[in-house]
Amino acid sequence: MCSKFAEKFEKNVLRTIKDYSLASKSDKVVVACSGGKDSTSVAGILLENGYDTEALHIDLGIGDWSKKNRGNISSFCSERGIKLHIASTRDYFGSSVCYLKSSLQAKANLTSCSVCGVMKKWILNRKAREIGAAMLATGHNLEDEARTAAMNLINGNPELNLFSSPGRKANGKIFVPRIKPLYFCSTPDIERYSREMEFPVLYDRCPCSKGSFGRNVVEELETVSGGFPELKMNFVRTFLEIQKKAPVCGKTAVVCNFCGEPSRRGVCRTCSMLSMLRKPVVNPSRGT
Ligand code: SF4
Ligand SMILES: [Zn+2]
Repeated sequence: MCSKFAEKFEKNVLRTIKDYSLASKSDKVVVACSGGKDSTSVAGILLENGYDTEALHIDLGIGDWSKKNRGNISSFCSERGIKLHIASTRDYFGSSVCYLKSSLQAKANLTSCSVCGVMKKWILNRKAREIGAAMLATGHNLEDEARTAAMNLINGNPELNLFSSPGRKANGKIFVPRIKPLYFCSTPDIERYSREMEFPVLYDRCPCSKGSFGRNVVEELETVSGGFPELKMNFVRTFLEIQKKAPVCGKTAVVCNFCGEPSRRGVCRTCSMLSMLRKPVVNPSRGT
């Protein structure tokens, strides 16, 4: 039996799905399930509301933290009959994220999250395409979107915020469309929902997240703003409003010359990172 809060939370998520036409019940929606509260909540809500839901977990090889997450998402899926696909950075790149990150940090000024984020995105897109996902649902929430928007401004790439939205359509055949049903949900609300639903998830922070500049920026903003959730909401809604008024000049999809995955330039960030390690670039037929 759901509490009033949980009912309202689910309604808000379903409203985002409807308002932005994120998915229909005939679509195979693959949820990128880290084992955390956000993506587990997305999978639970989609399944309970009749969406054709499967889960895709990437094992990052971050010690015990990854082992627990893998165990949690496996039991969540088996209890509910959700088909779970598992891939790992070792399968595709021969090493754990920890190893890749420490090797890369010796050669370039990269944080754990920037290495991990790039590698994860690469695997998610390839694996989701292989398993025939109509779309990939992620657990990105309001804080994630506010953080990305702030980082794009700080890094001098404000135009990237014009592409941010609860749903991103396919641009060519190789990019699997993305949906973010929790786009307008705050972290405290998601945590409360997940705890009420008794989902088997870890609430600890990833041990590698320390020192992430993006995370620190949002924490600073929260301190300065007194943590008002409406400020973050206004921040992300501003870009959605601008998108409605200004036509977005979408760049034509570019494909990486080495691995064939989507890329903004001729060589994707994953292949650039791997080349710094003098690892062979990813074999396009790997994992098919
Ligand atoms: S916090 Fe950073 S290192 Fe940890 S899983 Fe997320 S992106 Fe990867
Ligand atoms: Zn590449």
